[in-house]
Amino acid sequence: MIEIQPHGSVIAIRMARTFLGRPLYWTAAYWLEGLLIDSGPPCLAEALVQAVEPLGVEQIVVTHGHEDHTGGLAALRRRFPLAPIRASAGTIPLITEAQPRGQRFYQRLLWGAPQAVADIETLGLEVRAGPFTLRVIETPGHSRDHIVFFEPKQRWLFSGDAFIGGRDRAWAAEFEMFGTLSSLRALASLHPERLFPGSGHVRRTPLPELHGKIGQLLALCRDVGHLDRLGMPTDEIARRLCGGESSLRFWTGGHFSAANLIAACRSYNEIFDPEAEPATDAAKRLQQI
Ligand SMILES: [Zn+2]
Repeated sequence: MIEIQPHGSVIAIRMARTFLGRPLYWTAAYWLEGLLIDSGPPCLAEALVQAVEPLGVEQIVVTHGHEDHTGGLAALRRRFPLAPIRASAGTIPLITEAQPRGQRFYQRLLWGAPQAVADIETLGLEVRAGPFTLRVIETPGHSRDHIVFFEPKQRWLFSGDAFIGGRDRAWAAEFEMFGTLSSLRALASLHPERLFPGSGHVRRTPLPELHGKIGQLLALCRDVGHLDRLGMPTDEIARRLCGGESSLRFWTGGHFSAANLIAACRSYNEIFDPEAEPATDAAKRLQQI
């Protein structure tokens, strides 16, 4: 399934593999004046090429190496051989490898297997697209190689997976809390007026949601710290704070779990004293336990 949504000069191309006609997981690429940001999953590569063919593609950049953002690169290279593909130094080895490092069964099922792409150029500090100049900003956390693109005159932020909306109840083992929070704070400090995230769900007033996400993760770290000091076991903390382990743990073979999210909070709490931050209502409530 592919959806094209114009947002002024930016065109959002939303992609999802479907099951019984229903989308399973949305990812997005964005087109701006011949620049394509991210490239969707491998299973929708040909559909993406068809979608951008009438627009033309002069250059391609990616936010990080995950296959739902880089899976279209091989097909795009075949159709637009003159368009340079640029990525951060940390992302390039993930794209150029013949076999993606540790692709799991559910990832192959959901997105397909990506093909290696050679001759990827290293991104500089900015990318030009017509009259627009996008700054490249490092935002580790979701992955070590993650970057975002920010257009300061328009205050457009192409955030990849540095911001994922909603309440987190399970994390992948490699997601990292300190980086995630630092990157979210950096994104908020840019005061974006339009957020173009990896899901394709474009936000017109993103700042409250960015601050809300930061507050939500900080409160979770504080609550985990409090329950840890009470000596509560991980599965009980997961039940109280994350609603227990969801079916996501089963479907991802344990890659995503509430236990991972709690472990990421503990790792953060080793660096920062969660009690040093002002208590939230949730933390105050937990202190009654
Ligand atoms: Zn990702």
